Amino acid sequence: MFIRLLFITMFLLTATCSVKAEPATKYVALVFDDGPTTDNSQEFLAIFEGEGIHVTFGYIGTNVEKHPDIAKTAVDKGHEIVNHSYAHLHPKDLNDTALEHDIVKAQEVIIEKVGYTPKWYWLPFVESDPRIAPIAAKVNLKVYAPKLVSSEDYRRDLTTEQIKQRAITNIADGTTILFHEFRNETVTVIPEIITELKRQGFLFLTFSQMAEYLVNQPPR
Ligand SMILES: [Zn+2]
Repeated sequence: MFIRLLFITMFLLTATCSVKAEPATKYVALVFDDGPTTDNSQEFLAIFEGEGIHVTFGYIGTNVEKHPDIAKTAVDKGHEIVNHSYAHLHPKDLNDTALEHDIVKAQEVIIEKVGYTPKWYWLPFVESDPRIAPIAAKVNLKVYAPKLVSSEDYRRDLTTEQIKQRAITNIADGTTILFHEFRNETVTVIPEIITELKRQGFLFLTFSQMAEYLVNQPPR
């Protein structure tokens, strides 16, 4: 009887421990594209401050020209700004001169208006083009090419819950998750997404931190 009780107790303890076990630390990077905007930027910044996390903002040059103060606030609060082009055009639609302008002009605008020098070029529409890396290198930009999961919050047919599920399901260590500043539903649901990612054991890195983390990872 005593032995049986002991086994039952051990089983229950093991089951309890496995439920409450601390998750192993994993890393994720959140990127918010196409800002800065007046509508949602301040709210995002307040949420990230409350959550104690830092993210990456993929800023468009023309928006930085309109709202340089928001960009400065993001930098002051410790977030990373990356160059997301000047006018957010499809690279395939641009000749070499126009493509170079879209990359270089954004870099000049961010440096001039924000006093901050982005280290990364972040592809508009996640559309790669072999001409981009050499142009970006001319202004000391590297092209960020992560393991990407998109919340697909640019799709107006997706509900808040669908955006959330895309951002929290099957997220692997080292993933970058894509959002957009212009989507009101993303502002609404991002606290729940951050809470769930934290529960899954994730810590939050900027692009530069994530790039460094991935370089130092042993091959799997
Ligand atoms: Zn974009």
